[in-house]
Amino acid sequence: MEIFQSLAEDQHEQVIFCSDKVAHLRGIIAIHDTTLGPAIGGVRMFPYSSEDEALKDVLLLSKAMTYKAAAVGINLGGGQGVIIGDPLKDKNELVLRAFGRFVQGLNGRYITAEDVGTTVEDMEIVRYETKYVMGLSRAIGGSGDPGPVTAIGLCSGLLACVEKVLNKKSLEGVSVAIQGVGHVGYHLAQRLKEAGCRLIVADIIPEKAEKARKEFGAEIISPEEILGVEADVFSPCALGGVINAKTIDKFRVKIIAGPANNQLEDEKYGEVLHQKGILYAPDFVIGSGGMINVANELGGYIREKAIKQATGIYDIMKKILEISAESDIPTYKAANILAKARIAEVKKFRQRHA
Ligand code: NAD
Repeated sequence: MEIFQSLAEDQHEQVIFCSDKVAHLRGIIAIHDTTLGPAIGGVRMFPYSSEDEALKDVLLLSKAMTYKAAAVGINLGGGQGVIIGDPLKDKNELVLRAFGRFVQGLNGRYITAEDVGTTVEDMEIVRYETKYVMGLSRAIGGSGDPGPVTAIGLCSGLLACVEKVLNKKSLEGVSVAIQGVGHVGYHLAQRLKEAGCRLIVADIIPEKAEKARKEFGAEIISPEEILGVEADVFSPCALGGVINAKTIDKFRVKIIAGPANNQLEDEKYGEVLHQKGILYAPDFVIGSGGMINVANELGGYIREKAIKQATGIYDIMKKILEISAESDIPTYKAANILAKARIAEVKKFRQRHA
Protein backbone atom coordinates (compact mmCIF):
# COMPACT_ATOMS: atom_id res chain seq x y z
CA MET A 1 0.00 0.00 0.00
CA GLU A 2 1.23 3.53 -0.82
CA ILE A 3 0.68 4.76 2.73
CA PHE A 4 1.18 8.51 2.32
CA GLN A 5 -0.84 8.60 -0.89
CA SER A 6 -3.68 6.80 0.84
CA LEU A 7 -3.53 9.13 3.86
CA ALA A 8 -3.60 12.16 1.59
CA GLU A 9 -6.55 10.87 -0.44
CA ASP A 10 -8.76 10.27 2.57
CA GLN A 11 -7.21 13.12 4.57
CA HIS A 12 -6.15 11.12 7.61
CA GLU A 13 -4.29 13.19 10.17
CA GLN A 14 -2.08 10.59 11.80
CA VAL A 15 -1.30 6.88 11.90
CA ILE A 16 0.61 5.27 14.77
CA PHE A 17 2.16 1.81 14.59
CA CYS A 18 2.29 0.22 18.04
CA SER A 19 4.80 -2.54 18.69
CA ASP A 20 5.74 -4.16 21.99
CA LYS A 21 7.90 -7.25 21.89
CA VAL A 22 7.27 -8.28 25.49
CA ALA A 23 3.48 -8.01 25.23
CA HIS A 24 3.45 -9.36 21.65
CA LEU A 25 1.50 -6.33 20.58
CA ARG A 26 1.20 -5.46 16.91
CA GLY A 27 -1.33 -2.68 16.67
CA ILE A 28 -2.21 0.41 14.66
CA ILE A 29 -4.09 3.55 15.68
CA ALA A 30 -5.48 5.81 12.98
CA ILE A 31 -6.73 9.33 13.66
CA HIS A 32 -8.80 10.49 10.73
CA ASP A 33 -10.15 13.93 11.64
CA THR A 34 -10.25 15.90 14.88
CA THR A 35 -12.14 18.98 13.65
CA LEU A 36 -15.14 18.20 15.84
CA GLY A 37 -13.17 16.95 18.84
CA PRO A 38 -10.81 14.19 20.00
CA ALA A 39 -10.93 11.14 17.76
CA ILE A 40 -13.09 8.36 19.15
CA GLY A 41 -13.27 4.79 17.88
CA GLY A 42 -13.05 1.27 19.23
CA VAL A 43 -10.10 -1.08 19.18
CA ARG A 44 -10.70 -4.14 17.04
CA MET A 45 -8.77 -7.35 17.69
CA PHE A 46 -8.82 -9.57 14.63
CA PRO A 47 -6.55 -12.24 13.08
CA TYR A 48 -5.78 -10.13 10.00
CA SER A 49 -4.12 -12.19 7.29
CA SER A 50 -1.58 -9.41 6.61
CA GLU A 51 -0.36 -6.07 7.96
CA ASP A 52 -1.74 -4.47 4.81
CA GLU A 53 -5.21 -5.80 5.59
CA ALA A 54 -5.02 -4.44 9.15
CA LEU A 55 -3.86 -1.05 7.90
CA LYS A 56 -6.64 -0.83 5.31
CA ASP A 57 -9.21 -1.73 7.97
CA VAL A 58 -8.02 0.83 10.50
CA LEU A 59 -7.94 3.58 7.86
CA LEU A 60 -11.46 2.79 6.63
CA LEU A 61 -12.90 2.39 10.11
CA SER A 62 -11.40 5.63 11.44
CA LYS A 63 -12.85 7.57 8.50
CA ALA A 64 -16.25 5.96 9.10
CA MET A 65 -16.05 7.13 12.75
CA THR A 66 -15.51 10.74 11.63
CA TYR A 67 -18.61 10.57 9.43
CA LYS A 68 -20.59 8.75 12.10
CA ALA A 69 -19.94 11.42 14.72
CA ALA A 70 -20.50 14.25 12.25
CA ALA A 71 -23.77 12.92 10.81
CA VAL A 72 -25.45 12.39 14.17
CA GLY A 73 -24.26 15.56 15.88
CA ILE A 74 -21.59 14.21 18.24
CA ASN A 75 -18.75 16.58 19.14
CA LEU A 76 -15.97 14.08 18.53
CA GLY A 77 -13.65 13.24 15.69
CA GLY A 78 -12.97 9.86 14.10
CA GLY A 79 -10.31 7.34 15.03
CA GLN A 80 -9.83 3.61 15.36
CA GLY A 81 -7.43 1.09 16.80
CA VAL A 82 -6.66 -2.42 15.61
CA ILE A 83 -4.67 -5.20 17.23
CA ILE A 84 -3.45 -7.99 14.99
CA GLY A 85 -4.27 -11.28 16.68
CA ASP A 86 -6.92 -13.82 17.49
CA PRO A 87 -8.93 -12.57 20.47
CA LEU A 88 -9.60 -16.15 21.56
CA LYS A 89 -5.91 -17.07 21.67
CA ASP A 90 -3.79 -13.92 21.79
CA LYS A 91 -5.72 -11.56 24.05
CA ASN A 92 -4.29 -11.11 27.54
CA GLU A 93 -3.61 -8.43 30.13
CA LEU A 94 -0.21 -7.47 28.71
CA VAL A 95 -1.37 -6.92 25.16
CA LEU A 96 -4.30 -4.75 26.33
CA ARG A 97 -2.10 -2.76 28.74
CA ALA A 98 0.53 -2.23 26.06
CA PHE A 99 -2.15 -0.89 23.72
CA GLY A 100 -3.34 1.37 26.55
CA ARG A 101 0.19 2.82 26.89
CA PHE A 102 0.14 3.90 23.27
CA VAL A 103 -3.31 5.45 23.67
CA GLN A 104 -2.05 7.37 26.73
CA GLY A 105 0.94 8.57 24.70
CA LEU A 106 -1.45 10.38 22.37
CA ASN A 107 -2.54 12.50 25.32
CA GLY A 108 -6.25 12.55 24.48
CA ARG A 109 -6.10 12.96 20.71
CA TYR A 110 -7.57 9.44 20.50
CA ILE A 111 -10.11 7.88 22.87
CA THR A 112 -10.49 4.13 22.62
CA ALA A 113 -13.43 1.83 23.39
CA GLU A 114 -14.50 -1.77 22.75
CA ASP A 115 -15.11 -3.13 19.25
CA VAL A 116 -15.23 -6.51 17.51
CA GLY A 117 -12.88 -8.86 19.41
CA THR A 118 -12.69 -6.67 22.52
CA THR A 119 -15.13 -6.25 25.40
CA VAL A 120 -16.22 -3.84 28.11
CA GLU A 121 -14.13 -5.90 30.58
CA ASP A 122 -11.07 -5.52 28.32
CA MET A 123 -11.49 -1.74 28.47
CA GLU A 124 -11.13 -1.89 32.23
CA ILE A 125 -7.69 -3.44 31.71
CA VAL A 126 -6.80 -0.84 29.07
CA ARG A 127 -7.74 1.74 31.73
CA TYR A 128 -4.84 0.59 33.96
CA GLU A 129 -2.62 2.45 31.48
CA THR A 130 -4.74 5.28 30.13
CA LYS A 131 -7.56 7.59 31.10
CA TYR A 132 -8.52 7.98 27.44
CA VAL A 133 -10.82 4.98 27.31
CA MET A 134 -14.60 4.83 27.27
CA GLY A 135 -17.24 2.12 27.06
CA LEU A 136 -16.50 1.04 30.62
CA SER A 137 -18.90 -1.09 32.62
CA ARG A 138 -22.07 0.37 34.09
CA ALA A 139 -20.94 -0.69 37.59
CA ILE A 140 -18.17 1.93 37.53
CA GLY A 141 -20.22 4.67 35.90
CA GLY A 142 -19.49 3.74 32.29
CA SER A 143 -21.93 3.19 29.44
CA GLY A 144 -21.50 -0.61 29.33
CA ASP A 145 -22.19 -2.86 26.34
CA PRO A 146 -23.20 -0.56 23.47
CA GLY A 147 -25.14 -3.37 21.75
CA PRO A 148 -28.57 -2.63 23.27
CA VAL A 149 -28.46 1.12 22.45
CA THR A 150 -27.10 0.37 18.96
CA ALA A 151 -30.13 -1.90 18.46
CA ILE A 152 -32.51 0.84 19.62
CA GLY A 153 -30.97 3.26 17.11
CA LEU A 154 -31.20 0.65 14.37
CA CYS A 155 -34.91 0.07 14.97
CA SER A 156 -35.56 3.82 14.89
CA GLY A 157 -33.65 4.28 11.62
CA LEU A 158 -35.27 1.19 10.16
CA LEU A 159 -38.73 2.57 10.90
CA ALA A 160 -37.95 5.63 8.74
CA CYS A 161 -36.90 3.27 5.91
CA VAL A 162 -39.97 1.05 6.31
CA GLU A 163 -42.27 4.08 6.22
CA LYS A 164 -40.68 5.21 2.99
CA VAL A 165 -40.37 1.88 1.16
CA LEU A 166 -43.15 -0.31 2.55
CA ASN A 167 -45.52 2.54 3.35
CA LYS A 168 -46.12 1.16 6.85
CA LYS A 169 -46.38 3.04 10.12
CA SER A 170 -44.71 0.37 12.25
CA LEU A 171 -42.31 -2.56 12.01
CA GLU A 172 -45.09 -5.08 12.61
CA GLY A 173 -45.13 -7.88 10.05
CA VAL A 174 -41.83 -6.79 8.46
CA SER A 175 -39.48 -9.69 7.62
CA VAL A 176 -35.83 -9.12 8.55
CA ALA A 177 -32.84 -11.31 7.65
CA ILE A 178 -30.05 -10.79 10.19
CA GLN A 179 -26.49 -11.72 9.24
CA GLY A 180 -24.68 -12.34 12.53
CA VAL A 181 -26.40 -12.56 15.90
CA GLY A 182 -23.53 -11.33 18.08
CA HIS A 183 -23.64 -8.34 20.44
CA VAL A 184 -25.76 -6.10 18.21
CA GLY A 185 -27.52 -8.76 16.14
CA TYR A 186 -28.86 -10.45 19.27
CA HIS A 187 -30.29 -7.25 20.76
CA LEU A 188 -31.63 -6.23 17.37
CA ALA A 189 -33.42 -9.57 17.01
CA GLN A 190 -34.91 -9.11 20.47
CA ARG A 191 -36.24 -5.62 19.69
CA LEU A 192 -37.55 -6.62 16.27
CA LYS A 193 -39.33 -9.61 17.75
CA GLU A 194 -40.99 -7.31 20.29
CA ALA A 195 -42.04 -5.05 17.39
CA GLY A 196 -43.73 -8.00 15.64
CA CYS A 197 -41.18 -8.72 12.90
CA ARG A 198 -40.56 -12.11 11.29
CA LEU A 199 -36.91 -13.05 11.77
CA ILE A 200 -34.47 -15.07 9.68
CA VAL A 201 -30.94 -15.40 11.09
CA ALA A 202 -27.55 -16.83 10.14
CA ASP A 203 -24.32 -17.02 12.09
CA ILE A 204 -21.06 -18.85 11.48
CA ILE A 205 -21.28 -19.89 15.13
CA PRO A 206 -24.32 -22.24 15.12
CA GLU A 207 -24.99 -21.81 18.88
CA LYS A 208 -25.64 -18.09 18.39
CA ALA A 209 -28.22 -18.71 15.67
CA GLU A 210 -29.78 -21.43 17.79
CA LYS A 211 -30.14 -19.01 20.72
CA ALA A 212 -32.04 -16.59 18.45
CA ARG A 213 -34.30 -19.44 17.29
CA LYS A 214 -35.05 -20.52 20.83
CA GLU A 215 -35.58 -17.05 22.30
CA PHE A 216 -37.17 -15.19 19.39
CA GLY A 217 -38.56 -17.93 17.15
CA ALA A 218 -36.16 -16.94 14.36
CA GLU A 219 -35.80 -19.19 11.30
CA ILE A 220 -32.19 -20.31 10.87
CA ILE A 221 -30.54 -20.47 7.46
CA SER A 222 -26.91 -20.87 6.44
CA PRO A 223 -24.45 -17.93 6.24
CA GLU A 224 -24.38 -18.45 2.44
CA GLU A 225 -28.16 -18.40 2.04
CA ILE A 226 -28.74 -15.28 4.14
CA LEU A 227 -27.36 -13.05 1.36
CA GLY A 228 -29.98 -14.16 -1.15
CA VAL A 229 -32.96 -14.78 1.09
CA GLU A 230 -36.23 -13.13 0.16
CA ALA A 231 -37.27 -10.70 2.89
CA ASP A 232 -38.18 -7.04 3.35
CA VAL A 233 -34.90 -6.19 5.05
CA PHE A 234 -31.35 -7.53 5.09
CA SER A 235 -29.46 -6.46 8.20
CA PRO A 236 -25.65 -6.89 8.10
CA CYS A 237 -24.59 -7.39 11.73
CA ALA A 238 -21.27 -9.18 11.13
CA LEU A 239 -18.29 -7.56 9.41
CA GLY A 240 -17.86 -4.91 6.70
CA GLY A 241 -17.53 -5.27 2.93
CA VAL A 242 -20.66 -7.41 2.63
CA ILE A 243 -21.97 -5.44 -0.35
CA ASN A 244 -19.46 -6.35 -3.04
CA ALA A 245 -19.07 -7.70 -6.58
CA LYS A 246 -19.98 -11.23 -5.49
CA THR A 247 -23.07 -10.31 -3.46
CA ILE A 248 -24.58 -7.30 -5.26
CA ASP A 249 -26.82 -9.39 -7.55
CA LYS A 250 -27.89 -11.80 -4.82
CA PHE A 251 -29.96 -9.48 -2.64
CA ARG A 252 -33.73 -10.07 -2.80
CA VAL A 253 -34.75 -7.45 -0.25
CA LYS A 254 -36.17 -3.93 -0.40
CA ILE A 255 -34.01 -2.43 2.36
CA ILE A 256 -30.47 -3.02 3.61
CA ALA A 257 -30.02 -1.67 7.14
CA GLY A 258 -27.52 -2.87 9.70
CA PRO A 259 -24.70 -1.73 11.99
CA ALA A 260 -21.66 -3.43 10.39
CA ASN A 261 -19.18 -0.68 9.58
CA ASN A 262 -18.20 -0.09 5.92
CA GLN A 263 -20.74 -2.41 4.35
CA LEU A 264 -20.10 -1.05 0.84
CA GLU A 265 -16.84 -2.63 -0.25
CA ASP A 266 -16.71 0.22 -2.73
CA GLU A 267 -19.02 3.23 -2.91
CA LYS A 268 -19.95 2.25 -6.49
CA TYR A 269 -22.13 -0.50 -5.00
CA GLY A 270 -24.16 2.22 -3.29
CA GLU A 271 -24.95 3.54 -6.79
CA VAL A 272 -25.93 0.04 -7.97
CA LEU A 273 -28.30 -0.45 -5.02
CA HIS A 274 -29.86 2.95 -5.80
CA GLN A 275 -30.41 1.90 -9.43
CA LYS A 276 -31.86 -1.43 -8.35
CA GLY A 277 -34.32 0.38 -6.07
CA ILE A 278 -32.94 -1.21 -2.90
CA LEU A 279 -32.85 1.35 -0.09
CA TYR A 280 -29.47 1.28 1.61
CA ALA A 281 -29.44 2.85 5.09
CA PRO A 282 -25.91 4.28 5.42
CA ASP A 283 -24.19 2.17 8.08
CA PHE A 284 -22.49 5.08 9.79
CA VAL A 285 -25.86 6.68 10.44
CA ILE A 286 -28.13 3.77 11.29
CA GLY A 287 -25.41 2.05 13.32
CA SER A 288 -24.41 5.13 15.30
CA GLY A 289 -26.26 4.17 18.51
CA GLY A 290 -23.11 2.56 19.91
CA MET A 291 -21.07 5.72 19.45
CA ILE A 292 -23.90 7.81 20.86
CA ASN A 293 -23.96 5.55 23.91
CA VAL A 294 -20.22 5.76 24.51
CA ALA A 295 -20.05 9.51 23.83
CA ASN A 296 -22.58 10.04 26.61
CA GLU A 297 -19.91 8.97 29.09
CA LEU A 298 -18.19 12.32 28.55
CA GLY A 299 -20.78 14.34 30.44
CA GLY A 300 -21.57 11.63 33.03
CA TYR A 301 -23.56 8.71 31.65
CA ILE A 302 -27.34 8.87 31.83
CA ARG A 303 -28.90 5.93 30.01
CA GLU A 304 -32.23 7.66 29.26
CA LYS A 305 -30.37 10.50 27.56
CA ALA A 306 -28.35 8.08 25.40
CA ILE A 307 -31.50 6.18 24.42
CA LYS A 308 -33.34 9.40 23.53
CA GLN A 309 -30.43 10.48 21.35
CA ALA A 310 -30.27 7.06 19.64
CA THR A 311 -33.99 7.24 18.92
CA GLY A 312 -33.24 10.50 17.09
CA ILE A 313 -31.59 8.43 14.33
CA TYR A 314 -35.17 8.23 12.95
CA ASP A 315 -35.10 11.97 12.12
CA ILE A 316 -31.57 11.87 10.68
CA MET A 317 -32.52 8.92 8.48
CA LYS A 318 -35.60 10.81 7.28
CA LYS A 319 -33.44 13.80 6.39
CA ILE A 320 -31.09 11.55 4.40
CA LEU A 321 -34.01 9.99 2.55
CA GLU A 322 -35.29 13.49 1.73
CA ILE A 323 -31.92 14.64 0.33
CA SER A 324 -31.62 11.40 -1.64
CA ALA A 325 -35.11 11.75 -3.14
CA GLU A 326 -34.84 15.49 -3.88
CA SER A 327 -31.56 15.16 -5.78
CA ASP A 328 -32.05 11.57 -6.97
CA ILE A 329 -28.75 10.51 -5.42
CA PRO A 330 -27.88 7.33 -3.53
CA THR A 331 -28.45 7.45 0.22
CA TYR A 332 -24.75 6.97 1.02
CA LYS A 333 -24.01 10.18 -0.93
CA ALA A 334 -26.77 12.04 0.89
CA ALA A 335 -25.32 10.94 4.24
CA ASN A 336 -21.81 11.97 3.16
CA ILE A 337 -23.13 15.41 2.22
CA LEU A 338 -24.71 15.80 5.66
CA ALA A 339 -21.58 14.69 7.52
CA LYS A 340 -19.14 16.74 5.42
CA ALA A 341 -21.31 19.85 5.69
CA ARG A 342 -21.16 19.75 9.50
CA ILE A 343 -17.38 19.34 9.55
CA ALA A 344 -16.93 22.16 7.00
CA GLU A 345 -19.23 24.51 8.92
CA VAL A 346 -17.43 23.92 12.21
CA LYS A 347 -14.06 24.43 10.48
CA LYS A 348 -15.24 27.74 9.01
CA PHE A 349 -16.70 28.89 12.30
CA ARG A 350 -13.43 28.06 14.11
CA GLN A 351 -11.40 30.04 11.57
CA ARG A 352 -13.65 33.08 12.14
CA HIS A 353 -13.23 32.82 15.90
CA ALA A 354 -9.54 31.86 15.92
P1 NAD B 1 -19.89 -9.49 17.31
O1 NAD B 1 -18.55 -10.02 16.98
O2 NAD B 1 -20.41 -9.60 18.69
O3 NAD B 1 -20.99 -10.18 16.35
C1 NAD B 1 -20.76 -10.50 15.02
C2 NAD B 1 -21.46 -11.83 14.75
O4 NAD B 1 -21.39 -12.12 13.36
C3 NAD B 1 -20.79 -13.02 15.47
O5 NAD B 1 -21.75 -13.78 16.14
C4 NAD B 1 -20.12 -13.80 14.33
O6 NAD B 1 -20.06 -15.19 14.60
C5 NAD B 1 -21.06 -13.49 13.18
N1 NAD B 1 -20.48 -13.63 11.84
C6 NAD B 1 -19.23 -13.32 11.41
N2 NAD B 1 -19.13 -13.55 10.09
C7 NAD B 1 -20.34 -14.01 9.68
C8 NAD B 1 -20.85 -14.41 8.42
N3 NAD B 1 -20.12 -14.41 7.32
N4 NAD B 1 -22.15 -14.82 8.36
C9 NAD B 1 -22.92 -14.85 9.46
N5 NAD B 1 -22.47 -14.47 10.69
C10 NAD B 1 -21.20 -14.05 10.79
O7 NAD B 1 -19.87 -7.98 16.82
P2 NAD B 1 -20.92 -6.82 17.17
O8 NAD B 1 -20.42 -6.03 18.30
O9 NAD B 1 -22.30 -7.38 17.22
O10 NAD B 1 -20.78 -5.89 15.89
C11 NAD B 1 -21.24 -6.30 14.62
C12 NAD B 1 -20.87 -5.25 13.58
O11 NAD B 1 -21.51 -4.02 13.89
C13 NAD B 1 -19.38 -4.95 13.50
O12 NAD B 1 -19.07 -4.64 12.17
C14 NAD B 1 -19.23 -3.72 14.37
O13 NAD B 1 -18.13 -2.95 14.01
C15 NAD B 1 -20.52 -3.00 14.07
N6 NAD B 1 -20.99 -2.13 15.14
C16 NAD B 1 -21.10 -2.60 16.40
C17 NAD B 1 -21.60 -1.77 17.39
C18 NAD B 1 -21.80 -2.26 18.80
O14 NAD B 1 -22.53 -1.60 19.55
N7 NAD B 1 -21.23 -3.39 19.21
C19 NAD B 1 -21.99 -0.48 17.08
C20 NAD B 1 -21.89 -0.03 15.77
C21 NAD B 1 -21.39 -0.87 14.81
